[in-house]
Amino acid sequence: MADTGVFYKKLAMDAKNYLLYLKEIGIEELPVQKTGVRDQGALSSLESVREELGDCKRCKLHEQRTNIVFGVGNPKARLIFVGEGPGEDEDLQGEPFVGRAGQLLTKMIEAMGLKREDVYICNVVKCRPPENRPPQPDEILTCRPFLEKQIDTIKPEIIVALGTHAAQTLLNTPEKISALRGRFHWYRNNILLMPTFHPSYLLRSPEKKKEVWEDMKTVLAKLGLNVPESKKPV
Ligand code: SF4
Repeated sequence: MADTGVFYKKLAMDAKNYLLYLKEIGIEELPVQKTGVRDQGALSSLESVREELGDCKRCKLHEQRTNIVFGVGNPKARLIFVGEGPGEDEDLQGEPFVGRAGQLLTKMIEAMGLKREDVYICNVVKCRPPENRPPQPDEILTCRPFLEKQIDTIKPEIIVALGTHAAQTLLNTPEKISALRGRFHWYRNNILLMPTFHPSYLLRSPEKKKEVWEDMKTVLAKLGLNVPESKKPV
């Protein structure tokens, strides 16, 4: 009986916090789900994160962007890929990883026996840094809560962090990608995270593709998925 009491007390607290959160983001009426409760819930939560982001001007990256590049893919994905920030093509199209590096990422996902629609793809910062420079610490700090909310909503089993900035941001570490990649780490103690090289680095250093493929095979094994034999490494 005591356990049941604690459970209902926690439930009431969670409900209260949720209502306060809705009020904070300007929602005065409770959202009603009509069908497909879990799927719809994940989708509407991602939509509310996007709504909260709005026409964001929270950091200086808004000044030169064309589009906010929020994220794309399955709202219930088991696997999320996180890059550092949009490039020129992504800024123009409003979708992450659609330029040359994005095409390489798509090939990598397909070599894993998956499709882009099966996974979720996003970046640490949602607006393009000028001249494709790395995002700066203040920009990462400002945008990071939205990435965290995306991850909290999707609840993936594994995150693949693409490149130094994504890995450092998600793991709160100054270590470089070369020291981090190749093994799993914990994101907030409950989601496995595999750091690996960014596809744009692979375009410059194609000899590193083999290491990335090894990382992806480790991810597939952990997800309980087979490495498709007919596919070749990227
Ligand atoms: S990078 Fe993130 S915090 Fe900065 S303006 Fe864009 S959406 Fe807002």
